[in-house]
Amino acid sequence: MPYDPLSDEQREIRDLVRTLARERVAPRAAEIDETAEFPWDMVELFREHELFGLPFPDEYGGTGTGALMVLVAIEELSKVCATTGLILAVQELGSLGLKLAGDDDQKERYLPRLASGEWLCAYALTEPGSGSDSAAMRTTAARDGDDYVLNGAKRFITNAGVADLYTVFAKTDPEAGHSGISAFVVEASAPGFEVGRIEPKMGIKGSTTGEIFFNDCRVPADNLLGEEGEGFKIAMRILDRSRPGIGAQGLGLAQGATDYALEYARSRDAFGKPIAQHQLIGGMLADMETKCEAARGLLYKCGLMIDEEAPEDEVTKISAMAKLYCTDVAMDVTTDAVQILGGYGYMKEYPVERMMRDAKICEIGEGTSEIQRVVIARHLLRGILD
Ligand SMILES: Cc1cc2nc3c(=O)[nH]c(=O)nc-3n(C[C@H](O)[C@H](O)[C@H](O)COP(=O)(O)OP(=O)(O)OC[C@H]3O[C@@H](n4cnc5c(N)ncnc54)[C@H](O)[C@@H]3O)c2cc1C
Repeated sequence: MPYDPLSDEQREIRDLVRTLARERVAPRAAEIDETAEFPWDMVELFREHELFGLPFPDEYGGTGTGALMVLVAIEELSKVCATTGLILAVQELGSLGLKLAGDDDQKERYLPRLASGEWLCAYALTEPGSGSDSAAMRTTAARDGDDYVLNGAKRFITNAGVADLYTVFAKTDPEAGHSGISAFVVEASAPGFEVGRIEPKMGIKGSTTGEIFFNDCRVPADNLLGEEGEGFKIAMRILDRSRPGIGAQGLGLAQGATDYALEYARSRDAFGKPIAQHQLIGGMLADMETKCEAARGLLYKCGLMIDEEAPEDEVTKISAMAKLYCTDVAMDVTTDAVQILGGYGYMKEYPVERMMRDAKICEIGEGTSEIQRVVIARHLLRGILD
């Protein structure tokens, strides 16, 4: 991989996002966390600067700048506010089903509105009784004339209540296990669609996480993605391409916390010198920076492989590795940043305690760290386990 894999155009976009992050997002981050209100002003900022176009091809109004660019943008935003970085990551997560499995009509109907940010979207796989074991879902979809009728509940859905469009997985053949699952796009205005409780949580507090219900919810048969029974495969292909986005959120948090801790350690004195000059603190900073750089190498390689359309199973493996490593680094490094700030690190006045709380979800959402290890091990043991 070259020293900097970004093209001139990508670097220009990164610099724009970096400036917006520093000047417009950072001053809002603490307040977004404190109020736990969805930051519509950040959505407006993205619309104004066409950031929602980043995950979309140009024929549908996007920038056509590819997967790596999206990761870089999420990283830059998450350095200062992980909730705001997540807005971009979820616009990608919620639209990947359409991009990977949608037909021309479905893409024309929805992608331009998502690329402009007029509509937000979401991805609804998890249910109260099934998270890691997603194929154990109980939501059903039964064909009725020109519609499907959905019944069931999804839980922990990011963007619940703010999204206009949901990619939803439901069983069209409840007896058929994985191959009985189908994927749909469901508009929030569909009859029988309802948003339930929005969960109070530890971190990424401005992002909504909630329940959605389908009570005889009618969805046009035209909104089926791919064929009946292809839903599980679509869900996994989406995760292969969206998990790096959570890795980028983790990396942004880790780098943001490292940068902050470094500045602090240069100016805070103890025992007659800046704490950065105490070797234990210097060593901690060196480890933090090294972990960030290693995480970035893995993450960007993953982005490049997606852009170069590497073989599907290679993408599955590297995407799980990138998510696993970047998010574990996020937790380690943000915890170390709190330590470097001492008592001040524990106070809300400084951003590192928020970063540490925000980092935890990265190790859970879109497949826990354990599940990433399962995915990687399965890849390594192919032929032995099959
Ligand atoms: C803030 C937030 C946002 C979310 N956003 C979304 C969203 O937008 N869309 C969506 O569909 N879902 C979303 N989720 C759900 C998330 O993906 C699940 O919570 C996650 O996959 C884990 O599922 P679970 O909570 O049911 O835990 P479980 O699956 O019950 O797991 C519990 C524990 O057991 C471990 N475990 C389970 N199976 C294995 C195994 N085979 N080997 C080893 N360990 C195992 C897990 O790693 C975990 O530590 C979100 C969750 C949160 C908290």
